Amino acid sequence: MKWNITADKGFAIVLLYKPKTLRTVFVILLLLNSLQVGAQNAAYWQQRVDTKIEVRLDDAEHFLHAHLSLDYYNQSPDTLRFIYFHLYPNAYRTDRSAFARQDVANGSTDFYFSKKEQRGYLDSLQFLAQTDEGEEAKLGMILTEHPDIVKVILQEPLLPGSQIKLSTPFRVKIPEVFSRMGHSGQAYYLSQWFPKPAVYDAKGWHPYPYLNQGEFYSEYGSYEVAISLPANYILMATGNIVEEQEQRWLDSLTAIPLPPDTLYKNSNPPSAPNYKTVTFKEENVHDFAWFADKRWVVRKESIPLSDSEITAYTAFAPQHQKAWALGLASLKKTVNEFSKRVGPYPYKTIKAVEGLLVAGGAMEYPTITLIGGSKDPGEVHTLIVHEAGHNWFYGILGNNERLYPWLDESLNRFYENKIAPDSLNKGNQLLGGQDPNYFGYMMLAANGQTVPANSPSFDFPQLNYATDVYGKGAFYFKWLEDYMGEPAFQAAMQEYFATWKFKHPQPEDFEQLFKKHSIKNLSWFFEVLLPSAVAIDYSIAQVNRTENGTVVKLKNKSDLPLPVPVVRTVEGKVVEKHWTEPFLGTASLKFEGQEGLISIGSSVTDYNMSKNEERSPFRLKPFLGWNTHADRRAWVLPALGYNVYDRFLVGAVFHNLTIPKNKFQYALVPLYALGSKSFAGTGFINYSSYPQSDWLHSWHVRLSGKTFSFDKNNLNIDHYLYRRFIKVAPELVFEFKKPYYRSPIERSISLKTFWIREGQLAFNQDPTDSLYRPNPDQSKDLFYARVQYLHKNTRTFNPLDYCVEGQLGQQFAKLSLTAQLRIDYHLKNKAIYIRGYAGKFFNLASNPYDAYRYRLTQTSSGIHDYLYEETYLGRSEVATFPAQQISMREGGFKINTLQYANPIGLSDDWLFALNLKTDLPLAWVPLRLYADLGYSTAFNTAEQQRNLLYSAGLELYLGKYLSLYIPVLMSPVYSEYQTAIFPKNRFWHSISFSLNLKEIDWLNIGSGLVGN
Ligand SMILES: [Zn+2]
Repeated sequence: MKWNITADKGFAIVLLYKPKTLRTVFVILLLLNSLQVGAQNAAYWQQRVDTKIEVRLDDAEHFLHAHLSLDYYNQSPDTLRFIYFHLYPNAYRTDRSAFARQDVANGSTDFYFSKKEQRGYLDSLQFLAQTDEGEEAKLGMILTEHPDIVKVILQEPLLPGSQIKLSTPFRVKIPEVFSRMGHSGQAYYLSQWFPKPAVYDAKGWHPYPYLNQGEFYSEYGSYEVAISLPANYILMATGNIVEEQEQRWLDSLTAIPLPPDTLYKNSNPPSAPNYKTVTFKEENVHDFAWFADKRWVVRKESIPLSDSEITAYTAFAPQHQKAWALGLASLKKTVNEFSKRVGPYPYKTIKAVEGLLVAGGAMEYPTITLIGGSKDPGEVHTLIVHEAGHNWFYGILGNNERLYPWLDESLNRFYENKIAPDSLNKGNQLLGGQDPNYFGYMMLAANGQTVPANSPSFDFPQLNYATDVYGKGAFYFKWLEDYMGEPAFQAAMQEYFATWKFKHPQPEDFEQLFKKHSIKNLSWFFEVLLPSAVAIDYSIAQVNRTENGTVVKLKNKSDLPLPVPVVRTVEGKVVEKHWTEPFLGTASLKFEGQEGLISIGSSVTDYNMSKNEERSPFRLKPFLGWNTHADRRAWVLPALGYNVYDRFLVGAVFHNLTIPKNKFQYALVPLYALGSKSFAGTGFINYSSYPQSDWLHSWHVRLSGKTFSFDKNNLNIDHYLYRRFIKVAPELVFEFKKPYYRSPIERSISLKTFWIREGQLAFNQDPTDSLYRPNPDQSKDLFYARVQYLHKNTRTFNPLDYCVEGQLGQQFAKLSLTAQLRIDYHLKNKAIYIRGYAGKFFNLASNPYDAYRYRLTQTSSGIHDYLYEETYLGRSEVATFPAQQISMREGGFKINTLQYANPIGLSDDWLFALNLKTDLPLAWVPLRLYADLGYSTAFNTAEQQRNLLYSAGLELYLGKYLSLYIPVLMSPVYSEYQTAIFPKNRFWHSISFSLNLKEIDWLNIGSGLVGN
């Protein structure tokens, strides 16, 4: 029986949050738990693997031919009958591997659509075990559900305390770069390239398939790798070069003056005909990576540490020499700072090399890091500090990265932020020097989309992996450090390093040491903050200055009891600082002084900066801006509009649509119409709430309104009379929680009511000249209610959504179901689109004809948009060009027959439609074929005669928001209409268009920009 300490501990924490659960069970678990933690420290063990590899690079066919032999030391108390091996190159063998599936789920289809020759694999395995008698026995392998994991079956059980020698040949087809390993022409990035045992620790085996989003866990040991390749390759790898001749050659390269930056810009020197063999050795590492390129410039510098001397190397493309000018200085700074703050660097070399890389821009391996191509010196600096810093977090402190990325990525990022602040990075200046990952956290937190910082890497939605691990998680440690005090934090970190270097620390080991070094209670950090998805928001509620000092009242807007620092600053300097105890609701703090500014300390991971200072003045700013200030901001933008009645409209947008978004949002757009010489406008206000609920993600209350002219008439008069509508529509939306964080399912319910006032004109006959003339008449007030249930599956391939809708007006009711499915071809960005519609109409009017305008319709034009939900150029037009605007509503047909008194395709009973579209398998042609099929029943006999309709043609797809439709085939009733109504220019009149402006999600404009 295996004692599973962490599972128990996790369970105990869960119980803490469910107070109704039996308390006795909890107490027993807690007792068991503390006993086991104590026992575990005493009995810590880990396996050891010493690896030797001989490998030959074939740079013509991009193959590795290799032989592996390893000594596996079973230092566990268990008998092993098999060993799990990772064969990571096999992640690139098939599009069904865990890597390929995760990549598609993350929206990247490059690997999925790659050709066989671009992919890679590992084969030619034949595991042999050396017996005590020195004989070799062939070992069997059991395949697992993952192509990149096998079980090697041991012939004899491997007893505790014994060792085994295993060997196998292997061959690797090197893929193009889709993730971390691969080749780009004759530049080679060889990481996770050889068969490697999975970790066996106190929690059991850890066989993990390769993932892009999710890192590694490996056993410590020694490596000796002999690499044969054409002699003119520059080779950079984990560890130290054995051959003196190679070392001399490499060092001679570092003394060559810099070449022109055009060298090898578009070329690569041919490979030398002769091969060299270079051997690398290293101790106490858990991985071995190597990189080879013929074009690199190499530089080196030695870094003296207190009792060792380290040689730093950089290798980069001649064209990026400016960006890499300070590369060695970055390595030096990393070694010095991490050695001082965490623990001394134990290896003899540290290297940073440049390469083309897909995953994460850069990647770390023991003693060597690969940095993606960049022209920005600030970015190269922060990347080198981050990646080289990983030598400590995961290199030396080998936690399970796959399950606990907060122990390596968040911690490493925390130190990176201290050593290389992101403000140095040019790319971040757009965000006002803000750390982009933290900025992303603020953005997602404002949308109620955060994930607990201590989640396993594969549980995060892709964006959250960056924002919650690298952004939020790193800032959590800043908060902890501020709370403990820097000396206590550093002492804890240094003991953690000294205790756990070259070992596999677990989260509870980290927790135990930090609690040991803190005189304050750290339960809020480990038991409340880390496992919670709640976004942190505090505000200053009140500041009272008296003769005796200042009393500050704080408000905790997030539902977690956490401690908060509050500071008093005078002329930008903190003169007084106090911490609250962990609190809910409100808390008060007393300051001795009165002068200066009171604000919440910057170490708090607060996503909502408004009211974090005692004074938060209101400021109106031009255009747009970020929402990362303590003051409340609104923006003003010029606005321009057009419709055929009002003509051009000019005005302004007053809004607070920003990132991170506000809970209370508005956009108000007053406009002046140059044609109708009247005021018009549109706007909305919205309030969003994110309750901590098991099933409800959020609710939103909205009020939207607009007023424009929708018709004009100058019959027998010398000026136009206008008809105007006013719409006011309150709405309540509930968004349901996703079943799991990475789920592509979105579900919501919307309840919306409409009050719409429509201006009327009366046409009276003038007795003097018998002519009819329009006069303003009494407006009509119309009321509607609508309920919608929307279900969306946003998966990368074959996304699907459907909407069930009920409408109620004074004279009608409607029920409908609309479903849309995209079926992806086996070709990038090409698909078939299927839309289905079924609707039922209920006539509630005493005179059936009163409900005529509300009938179901195969083609939706401006006059059918009685809810004023769409944007039409001329919503009452029947004969001019704007009449050719249609919307994909109800039947989704593209041909209108508005000039008939009784247009085609109306129904007062049932209406069904099927709309099919397909991309053409031609690259870069924005043309689709479409076909519409409709069937309806009606009580009206004229409509019954044309209840089966079809049309088909071409769609010119001009982005998401504009499409043109050219019908080619259509039901005879449609062609009769076109022949009768358009004797001339029939082709032109048959073209219709749609403007899909409703697709713009103004409320989430920020997350849309960054998220998609
Ligand atoms: Zn990292």
